[in-house]
Amino acid sequence: MTQSLPGQRPVRDRGFAGRAGLPVVVVGAGPYGLSVAAHLRAAGVPVRIFGQVMGSWRHAMATGMFLKSTPDAVDLSTPEPGGRLADFRRLHGEPELTELTPIPCEVFVRYGTWFQKRHVGDVDPARVVAVDRAPSGGGFLVRLDDGRELRSAAVVVATGLNGLAHVPGELGRLAPEGPGAGALVSHTSHHTDLSPFADRRVAVVGGGQSALESAALLHEAGADVRVLVRAPRVRWGMRPQSARSWAERVARPASPLGTGWVLAAVCTGPAAVRRLPAPARMLLFRRALGPSGGWWLRDRVEGVVPVRTSCRVVRADTDGSGVRLELAVAGRSAVLDVDHVLAATGYRLDLDAMTFLTPGVRGAPARVPGSNAPRLSAGFESSVPGLHFTGSLAAPAFGPILRFVAGTEFAAARVARHLARSLAAR
Ligand SMILES: Cc1cc2nc3c(=O)[nH]c(=O)nc-3n(C[C@H](O)[C@H](O)[C@H](O)COP(=O)(O)OP(=O)(O)OC[C@H]3O[C@@H](n4cnc5c(N)ncnc54)[C@H](O)[C@@H]3O)c2cc1C
Repeated sequence: MTQSLPGQRPVRDRGFAGRAGLPVVVVGAGPYGLSVAAHLRAAGVPVRIFGQVMGSWRHAMATGMFLKSTPDAVDLSTPEPGGRLADFRRLHGEPELTELTPIPCEVFVRYGTWFQKRHVGDVDPARVVAVDRAPSGGGFLVRLDDGRELRSAAVVVATGLNGLAHVPGELGRLAPEGPGAGALVSHTSHHTDLSPFADRRVAVVGGGQSALESAALLHEAGADVRVLVRAPRVRWGMRPQSARSWAERVARPASPLGTGWVLAAVCTGPAAVRRLPAPARMLLFRRALGPSGGWWLRDRVEGVVPVRTSCRVVRADTDGSGVRLELAVAGRSAVLDVDHVLAATGYRLDLDAMTFLTPGVRGAPARVPGSNAPRLSAGFESSVPGLHFTGSLAAPAFGPILRFVAGTEFAAARVARHLARSLAAR
């Protein structure tokens, strides 16, 4: 059941024997899982990687969506040269993408799949359904959705935001069986196709990129859309300037997450961010990047889709087929009747929601104070020996760059170096 694709470069484990030769298991084959696996394989560490290649980008984003990041901020990481998005485009005879070309999700999926073939090798598409401590001898017991089980020396959790979608309680009560595409309320991650909402009245709750891009796509599909934003105004990214003066570059240095000193600092120094006192780190994590829409999306929303700002959903009720929303809009009460509510209300980094980790495993790691995310060592290891976390779950420890593909370079090299050393020492 391995995903060995034609044209794949053979990747060999180079004689490393960890805990009695047991592999490291990487759970998840998105940007972080693929990058970590590429570094582990290059370091000669035996590794098994599970999950669908670029699964979230195939199944948790609506058709027609674009990345908010610029092309130079979405390279996956490998210690070998030649794995950048620009390399993929050049090899396939596709024109180079510039800061002014939003990247379609479909291009990013093709890039990730190419990266996997070239730098990672076999990926097993099975889903990991349980990670438990091995009953003896240390390490972990990993169970897959097809019933197979294997022992591993260490586990790297790279499951992104899967299972962490957040729907506020006042909306969640509209769907006693759980939110979803067929219920009265759903989360943006439930949809790959928004066209079934043509001719329906949809309230989109949220003011970030997911809310604004979903609203544009719904409108373009023929839905009657309203966006409800808690903040007093919608924030939009700035169109990148091709030539910036020296003074502008000093005043607002560039970084993969945008311009400004705070962003440049958190991108350059995730290791330093980890050493900050926890309250300062949590402040950075919450405040460094507030919700905003990509500059290229503005024309598809402003003056096109009705947006209510300073607007909070106070109560949501159903009459069976539709939804009545009671709103507080700039201190005044209002009512909105719709057919469906789309919650673009983000994700909660909650270790307890990661049900594929058995209760004994997910309950054990020490948390970053003020969060339910794991405290991590400089090598991304939690307080449970051998259990590592990357991507968004590592953001409360290392800062906001870990929420983005741009963090793969830092994370993958660190995780691989740490695992190669610690397993070789056993
Ligand atoms: C709508 C949206 C737009 C975004 N746009 C950007 C952007 O423009 N730029 C950017 O840098 N970031 C963006 N992000 C953030 C983005 O999710 C991350 O940057 C990136 O995908 C993180 O990679 P990852 O590998 O951690 O997670 P993911 O890409 O989510 O990959 C996780 C993988 O784990 C797999 N998986 C989950 N559970 C299991 C299991 N139990 N067993 C096996 N496999 C499992 C999934 O199938 C998936 O393949 C966006 C997020 C969203 C929701």
